[in-house]
Amino acid sequence: MGVGVLRAYKEFLPITDATPMISLGEGDTPLVKSNRLGKELGCTELYFKLEGCNPTGSFKDRGMVVAMAKALEAGSTAVMCASTGNTSASAAAYGAFCDLPTYVLIPKGEVAMGKLAQAMAYGAKILMLNGNFDSALFLVRTFTSRHPVTLVNSLNPHRLEGQKTAAFEIVDALGDAPDFLFIPVGNAGNITAYWRGFQEYHDAGFSRKLPRMMGFQAEGAAPIVRGEPIANPQTIASAIRIGNPANWEGAVEARDSSGGVIDMVSDDEILDAYRLLASKEGLFCEPASAASFAGLVKLHRQGLNLAGQRVVCILTGTGLKDPDLAVSSVASQATEVEPNIEAIEAAALLVTAKS
Ligand SMILES: *Cc1c(COP(=O)(O)O)cnc(C)c1O
Repeated sequence: MGVGVLRAYKEFLPITDATPMISLGEGDTPLVKSNRLGKELGCTELYFKLEGCNPTGSFKDRGMVVAMAKALEAGSTAVMCASTGNTSASAAAYGAFCDLPTYVLIPKGEVAMGKLAQAMAYGAKILMLNGNFDSALFLVRTFTSRHPVTLVNSLNPHRLEGQKTAAFEIVDALGDAPDFLFIPVGNAGNITAYWRGFQEYHDAGFSRKLPRMMGFQAEGAAPIVRGEPIANPQTIASAIRIGNPANWEGAVEARDSSGGVIDMVSDDEILDAYRLLASKEGLFCEPASAASFAGLVKLHRQGLNLAGQRVVCILTGTGLKDPDLAVSSVASQATEVEPNIEAIEAAALLVTAKS
């Protein structure tokens, strides 16, 4: 469609005659069928939803466009968010598009380079906090409760309304909901939004079934799995490095009413999945995104039978967000060569013979 989520799913969104129908071209992302990894897992039908194809490279744009449109409608003069990176990149882009000053509070030293570059390029006012994401979110909540500045974290209900459109797209593409939906869980807004989207589409008669919601946290940042907030969450996957999720109850509700799970994967499992997706499927996502596929691999190893099942893994953001990690975590494939054809032939044929 390419018209943006406000126009594409108008009747399911909180849109009035006064809502500006803005768009940076978000949504309508590809649902790619696995060519290799699904077979290895005995999964007949495995798909990846490429949310990294959104305008700022993550699913955050789906919710941000709705939050920004509603902020404009309400006459807001500035917006603010706390962020592990992608929310700030998205807020900054839509803030620039809408001419709304955008303040982003990010934990110092914890945001991947690509995301920081985006917030800077789009011209957000960046506040670097000597603290983690959870303390940033607390401060943003306090600030926006005292000043006429709109909070655009996923506590803003319009964010989840926009994010649920990804579930609609999956049903539109497949003709029904999948049997399983695998998704990373950080602040838990996205799993909450998907579940709402699947339910609303089901109630509207667009799907016959509902998926089991399979959410995955990182082992060092798994408050929902462990049943208590984590004071110092640690994981290589910075987008899900969250110790006290704002939408905790939404995730638990999605799990329980869908017959799903909220489980965790280690950083090694995340990195393995990250490398497999890129090298065996041509899908370069960010580490947090790979937690969904890492979860599928883990459950397969534990004996989950995927034969005849239709499975969708959400790849929440693009791998280009974190180039440093890509370069440092993949064994170097580069061979140095002299600039002559003999050297190229010798090197290329050697590589071909090896593989
Ligand atoms: C925000 C984000 C997540 C986590 O989503 P929540 O709604 O916070 O659970 C996962 N992956 C990426 C790439 C993100 O930007």
